[in-house]
Amino acid sequence: MNILVINSGSSSLKYQLIDMPNETVKASGLIERIGAENAKITYKKGDFKTSKELLIKNHEEALNQMNGFLMDEEFGVISNKDDIKIVGHRVVHGGKTFSDTVEITEEIKSKIESLCALAPLHNPPNLKGIEVSERVFSKAKQVAVFDTAFLQSLPQKAYQYAIPKSFLEDEDIRAYGFHGTSHKYVSEKAQEFLNSKNQPSSKLISIHLGNGCSMTAIKDGKAIDHSMGFGPANGLIMGTRAGDIDQSVIFYLIDKLGYSAEKVNTILLKESGMLGLTGSNDLRDIQQKAEAGNEDCQLALEMNAYRIKKYIGAYAVALNGLDAIIFTAGIGENSALMREIVCQDMDVLGLQIDDSKNQMSSNESRDISKTISDTKILVIPTNEELEIAKQAYKLH
Ligand code: AMP
Repeated sequence: MNILVINSGSSSLKYQLIDMPNETVKASGLIERIGAENAKITYKKGDFKTSKELLIKNHEEALNQMNGFLMDEEFGVISNKDDIKIVGHRVVHGGKTFSDTVEITEEIKSKIESLCALAPLHNPPNLKGIEVSERVFSKAKQVAVFDTAFLQSLPQKAYQYAIPKSFLEDEDIRAYGFHGTSHKYVSEKAQEFLNSKNQPSSKLISIHLGNGCSMTAIKDGKAIDHSMGFGPANGLIMGTRAGDIDQSVIFYLIDKLGYSAEKVNTILLKESGMLGLTGSNDLRDIQQKAEAGNEDCQLALEMNAYRIKKYIGAYAVALNGLDAIIFTAGIGENSALMREIVCQDMDVLGLQIDDSKNQMSSNESRDISKTISDTKILVIPTNEELEIAKQAYKLH
C-alpha cells in the first residue's frame, strides 16, 4: 500500500512515498521556498535525483508539482494520484489531547487548530498541509501523527512544573516534549536489536542529537521522562538553543540590561547553544576547530557532552537501572567524537564504549559497546518518515 508522508512547514514541504508494510521508500523529496519565484522541488528515486526551480505559489501547487514527479512517465513511481491510499501528516503539537495517531476529521482539524498557540511556528503550516492534501488527494485517508504523542505517557510528577497549579489546570502549562516520533522509532528498533540477541531490555535512554536535541527515558516501551518541556528550549545544549538555564539570567537581561523579552527569546533560541559558544552551529566545523586547538570549541564539546551525561545519570535513576543508551540523529549517528566523550568515565552505569566499533561509520543500527559492557551503547539511525508511515498503516 502506498503511503505518502508529508512534513509541511511554512515555506517548505518534505515528502516520502513509502510502500507498506514492506517499508520500501519508492520516492522522496523536498519543496523549498514555497511562495517564491525561485521555489525548488527535488525528487529522488533510489540513486536517481532530479530538481527544478520554478514559481510555486502555494502549498497546493507544491503538492501538484510533487505529483508531476511521482507520476512522471520516465522516472515516476505511480500512474495515478489515487494510487496513494493514505497520507500521513507530521503534526508537531498534539497537546494533552492526542496520545496516539488519528484519522483526520473536521473535529480533529479544529482540535489541531486550537493547539496552534502551543506551537505557533509549526502547527499552522502542518494544518495547511492537511487541508491542501485533503483537496489534492481527496480519495486518500488522511492521518495525523503527533510529535508529542509518544511523550504523553510521562507521569504527572515528570511533566508538571512546580508553579501555581492553576497554570496547569487552566492554561495547560506543563512539559510536553518533542521529537517523540524519533524517540519511539529508535527505542522500538533498540528493543528489536537487543531482543534478537536474547537480551530483553526495558530500561532505555534515547539521545536525539541533531540541530535540536532531546533525551527520553523509556521503561517497558513507555516514555517516563524527557528533557524538553513546554516548548523546544529546555534540556540539552543544541545547535542554537541554550537548553537548561537559570531563569534569573532572563530577568537580569530584561530588567538590568534592558533587553526586550522578544530579544531574549531570540538570543536563547537562535543565538545560543553551540553557535553562541563557538560561532558555528555545525558540529563538523566545531570538531575540526577543536582538533586544531581552538579552546572555545573544545570547551563547547565538553559542555555539550557533560549536559548529556547529567541527563543520563538522572534518567538511569528514574528508570532504576539501564539496559541501553541509544544515539540518534545527525550528531548521534555521525559523530564518533561526541559519542566517545559522552561515554567516557561512565563505568558507574556499566557503560564501556568500544573505540574501534565507535569509529566505524555505517548507516545501520549497531552496538558500539564492549562485549563486557553491562549497558549497551547503540547507534540507531532515526527514520521519522517511516515511523509516520508505520503508524498510518496501522489505521488502514
Ligand atoms: P539533524 O538536525 O539531525 O540533521 O543534525 C544536524 C547536525 O548533525 C549538525 O550539527 C551537523 O553538524 C551534525 N552532523 C551531520 N553529519 C555529521 C558528521 N559526520 N559528524 C559530526 N556531526 C555531523
